[in-house]
Amino acid sequence: MIEIVDTSLCTACNICVRACPTNVFDAVPDGAPRIARQQDCQTCFMCELYCPEDALFVASEPAACAELTVNRALVGSYRRAVGWGRNRQSTAADDASYELLTRAR
Ligand code: SF4
Ligand code: SF4
Repeated sequence: MIEIVDTSLCTACNICVRACPTNVFDAVPDGAPRIARQQDCQTCFMCELYCPEDALFVASEPAACAELTVNRALVGSYRRAVGWGRNRQSTAADDASYELLTRAR
């Protein structure tokens, strides 16, 4: 679930507002988007992936939420892990989940 918009990193580009398939965010004039409908979040990570500033954090598990207050390194961590962003290497080749699809056929 989307947990945080780091306003110190956000440039108010609103890419996350447009990327979200369930309309979780509200754009704010000249400011960081607001998490307006957190309960509608599907934990799809699209907003975090598309945020060019690594300003978002989507928690995969509820336990991670509690860490937010002490571990700001979590912000943008999924995006970094998959290798999206400037000067990063895609980690897609390390993802073996495609093998599950192959075996299911
Ligand atoms: S994780 Fe997906 S559903 Fe949740 S806020 Fe981000 S884009 Fe929207
Ligand atoms: S995509 Fe990132 S930088 Fe752009 S508005 Fe959303 S949180 Fe801010």
